[in-house]
Amino acid sequence: MFISLEGIDGSGKSTQARRLADTLRARGHAVTLTREPGGSEGAEAIRRLLVEGEPDRWSAETELLLFNAARRDHLERLIDPALARGDWVVTDRFADSTRVYQATRGGSRDTVDALHHLMIGREPDLTVLIDMDPREALSRGLARASGEDRFEDLGLAFQERLRAGFLSLAQEFPDRIRTVDGAADAGTVAARIEALL
Ligand code: C5P
Repeated sequence: MFISLEGIDGSGKSTQARRLADTLRARGHAVTLTREPGGSEGAEAIRRLLVEGEPDRWSAETELLLFNAARRDHLERLIDPALARGDWVVTDRFADSTRVYQATRGGSRDTVDALHHLMIGREPDLTVLIDMDPREALSRGLARASGEDRFEDLGLAFQERLRAGFLSLAQEFPDRIRTVDGAADAGTVAARIEALL
């Protein structure tokens, strides 16, 4: 079983991915918990190229290629072998993040889809979209300000567009993407996700 968690920055995905992995392990499943961009050695190296440096370090096209290169390595080296040995895979972000972020940042959805089809060609069995108002994410201090991420200062208006992008994706793929209201304490959100399973 291949599960992805998606949402805007600060929506609590990483916390929920960890909690979900713990819950599944407690039920006796072998779980591989991972994240994007990154998750494999090569993809983590690409992640550093993506998140470090000046905001205009890469063009929209190069950035899209890097995200796909990272995802391909992640899939080949970590996700597919884990699924092949029977693990449940829980990933903090997968291709829906690219459909939303890279398309919002200037790439066209057609290009994003064409590359995905050519190079990745896979979807999770279930995607949990943690929906949250970006103001709420900011006020909770969940949206980080580490200063190490060149995507960090994209602002509220951009996060609003991302949120709308994720919600419209959930309508596009209703069988795969389930939306959970993230505006509650972590335990409540975790219980909502568990109820989906
Ligand atoms: O989710 P995480 O915080 O690890 O992502 C690292 C950074 O990459 C974040 O600032 C996020 O906004 C950005 N990102 C992106 N496009 C993606 C995935 C993540 O711009 N497809």
